[in-house]
Order: sequence, then C-alpha cells, then structure tokens
Amino acid sequence: MTDNRHVKVLILGAGPAGLSAALYAARAELEPVVLTGMQLGGQAALTHTIENYPGFPEGVGGPQLGELFQKQAERFGAKVEFDMAHEVDFSQRPYKVTADSGDYFAETVIIATGASPVHLNVPGEVELTGRGVSYCATCDGWFFKDKKVVIVGGGDSAFEEGLFITRYASSVTLIHRRNEFRAGAILQKRAKEHPKMNFITDTVVTEIIGGEKLEALKLKNVVTGEESTFEADGVFIFIGHTPNTQMFKGQLEMSDLGYLKVNDKMETNIPGVYAAGEAADATFKQVVTSAGMGAAAAIQAARYLEETESVPG
Ligand code: NAP
Repeated sequence: MTDNRHVKVLILGAGPAGLSAALYAARAELEPVVLTGMQLGGQAALTHTIENYPGFPEGVGGPQLGELFQKQAERFGAKVEFDMAHEVDFSQRPYKVTADSGDYFAETVIIATGASPVHLNVPGEVELTGRGVSYCATCDGWFFKDKKVVIVGGGDSAFEEGLFITRYASSVTLIHRRNEFRAGAILQKRAKEHPKMNFITDTVVTEIIGGEKLEALKLKNVVTGEESTFEADGVFIFIGHTPNTQMFKGQLEMSDLGYLKVNDKMETNIPGVYAAGEAADATFKQVVTSAGMGAAAAIQAARYLEETESVPG
C-alpha cells in the first residue's frame, strides 16, 4: 500500500456532486482523490447549455461547467484520476475500493456515481445504437444536420434536448406515451412554439427499424391500439435514468429502484461512507442540488475524520 493509495477521502464520480465534494474536502485539507469513472463532468457535461445553475445568468455550457468545477477543486489540492472503481469492501476501515489501476484504501468514501439513461428495451435499439439511436443530444446532435429526428420522452430532458437538436435537424418530433408532459412550463411553451417541433402523444415506440442506419420507428397509439410506421433518421431517447449503484448492492441500503439511502447528513448505513447526487437522489436531480449534496457529504466526512482521529487507538 503506497501513500497515494491510502487516502482520507476517496470520491467516486466526477459530476457536480463528486467535484463539489472534492472542492470542500480539498479546502478542509483532506487531499481528496476523485476517481472519474466513465464521465468526467457527469451527466451535466452531456448537456449543451445549463440555464438554471445559479451564478450564470446567460447559462453555461455543460462541459464548461464541469471543467470549472474540476479546476476549482484542483486549485485547493484535489487529485482527479481517470480511473474506474469496480468493487468496494466496506466491511472494515480503511475501506477498500478496487479500481482499474488497483486498490485504494480510504478512511472515508463519498459515492457520487450518478445515473445512466434508461433504455426503451425494444427490438432494434441495441443494434442501432450509434447508427441513429442516441441518448446524448450534445454528443450526437451534429450528425443529424437537415435530418428527421424523433425524441422519446415527456420530461425536461426530452424537451430541452429536443429544442437543442432543432439547431441541426430539419424536424424534431417528440413522441410521448401520455398526452400530458412532465416537462416544466417554460420548456413546453418554447417547444410548442418552435416551428421545427411536432408532437405525437399517447404513443409508444414498439420497434426501431434499420440496417446500416436507422430508417423508421414502429409506433403504437396506446388509446386506439392503432399501429403505424414513422420514417426517421435518428431517435434520441430521454425516458429517465437509473442510479449507478450496482457495485454497492449487499453493502449499502438502497431503495427498490437502486437509489442509495442517505440521511440529511448524506450518511449511508456505513459510518464514513456518504452518498451524494443522483446515485442517492430520486427526487430533484438538478446540478445545483447534486452539488449541494456533494458539499454536505464532504463537510460531514471532515467532521467524521476529526471525531474518529481524536479517539485514541
Ligand atoms: P423524467 O422527468 O423522469 O421523465 C421521463 C419521461 O420519460 C417521462 O415523461 C416518462 O413518461 C417517460 N418515460 C419513462 N419511461 C418510459 C418508457 N419506458 N417508455 C416511454 N416513455 C417513458 O426524466 P428526465 O426528463 O430525464 O428528467 C430527470 C430529472 O432531471 C427531472 O427531475 C428533471 O426535472 C431534471 N432535469 C431538469 C432539467 C432542467 O431543469 N433544465 C433538464 C433536464 C432534466 P411519464 O411522464 O408518462 O411517466
């Protein structure tokens, strides 16, 4: 065990929650180490513009916000490692976290592993991913210049990302399984007024059709039962997220949906192990709330280290 492998605060995940935790832990001089996982900046970095993070009245690019978070945490001594955790052992302190590069031993762990997009689970979806099926407008929107695009979902993500894709696509048709949307009023108004946006409600996608690339979607109206085929070049699926908490199963308490259970101090059922952001938040899922949870987790980890270090032996 080398020194840089034995850390006071190990943070899993580098989205708003993880990097805010890193900032607070670094300013408490705890020299936190952040393992980025697959997505530096988290899901926020996949969003083109974030308009509701305070302090940026004109909005801020998702990737840019992630970079700013990282820079600020590093300025105070946080180390951000491009490394992926696979396994944890919370049975004794220091807690062992096995990553691509080997084992880390941590006095406290802050879990900020976020969430991943839910799939439709219809025929053709897996086969055509990257050939017309996408879960990230910022990453793939550009490929659909003057093309016909479908968005699936009725929440904020579907509307926000749909509006973003109107920059490129010739038309954006949002398909939703009900006739009411979850998305906020401002987004709905903007989308409904946009000349490139169309809406098909009470309808589900039952199959995604194509060979080398996506050609069409099979649709079913859930009220009338009527089936139809809708020609399209791309489909972006925004139907929610599932928390990335598989590796904690059996060790940390979680809800039926897999969200880690924390109290108001971000404490899990294991002392010294905290969770923040979408891995533990089934309700708010905002950049600002995730950042707040990350900060709270780090403050609590610092208190815990102070308390446990002062106990003799
Ligand atoms: P969401 O709010 O959970 O919405 C998911 C949508 O997908 C719902 O309309 C849902 O339909 C639909 N859906 C779920 N499963 C489906 C399935 N199997 N087939 C077809 N449709 C399905 O997810 P989200 O839009 O990703 O947003 C997640 C959270 O992030 C929310 O709290 C949201 O407010 C927040 N967010 C905020 C912003 C912002 O403030 N600018 C931007 C993005 C996200 P039903 O409505 O029928 O359930």
